[in-house]
Amino acid sequence: MNHDSKNIMVILSSPSGVGKTTITKKIQQKYQSFKISVSHTTRKPRPNEVDGVDYFFISHAEFKKKIHENEFYEYAKIFDNYYGTSKKTVDQIIKKNDIIFDIDWQGTKQLSKFKNLKLIKIYLIPPNKNELKERLIKRNQDSKDEVERRYKAFDEDILHWKDYDYIIVNQNLENCYKQIENIIISNKKDLSKLSQIIQ
Ligand code: 5GP
Repeated sequence: MNHDSKNIMVILSSPSGVGKTTITKKIQQKYQSFKISVSHTTRKPRPNEVDGVDYFFISHAEFKKKIHENEFYEYAKIFDNYYGTSKKTVDQIIKKNDIIFDIDWQGTKQLSKFKNLKLIKIYLIPPNKNELKERLIKRNQDSKDEVERRYKAFDEDILHWKDYDYIIVNQNLENCYKQIENIIISNKKDLSKLSQIIQ
């Protein structure tokens, strides 16, 4: 994976339900230079999700074929489904843009093996476990069993916080977003490339 040394790659990971997808989208809306790496998944789309925007939704057979043909920089099995970052998607984006990955700790470990990448690894955590459960229920995207499963996965997920450069507590979405924005700005050497949309 070769890329323009001025472009940065931000990984945002968190246990499920901490608000990472909202923050990722907010960064992309504010900074034109950032593109989100749209992953492939075998998970079924949620009602509000759009194919090619939130994910590329594919079958297990298609995913297996892509693994076999070495099309992913990283992939992982999470909650019975596969999720992966396509080489083609990333290589296209990184020539001209900064990139944000919304991936889990397994994917982060795999991408970290590419030593030439300027990765900024950020891990978001909820203020406490009860809050996490409330958020998982409130966002109303998953079945009761799935909520329970994602909640239980928290203990395993959080063990991997040490693999990240920054740990941020999402107590308040706006503050959390501001902290991430500051991290990005301080890491981005060529600030002029962060072409901010005037809002
Ligand atoms: P969800 O099903 O809630 O959209 O995502 C479940 C988990 O999969 C989240 O932690 C998300 O960050 C992670 N994820 C999404 N895409 C990828 C990917 O391409 N690779 C890896 N390793 N994890 C991913």
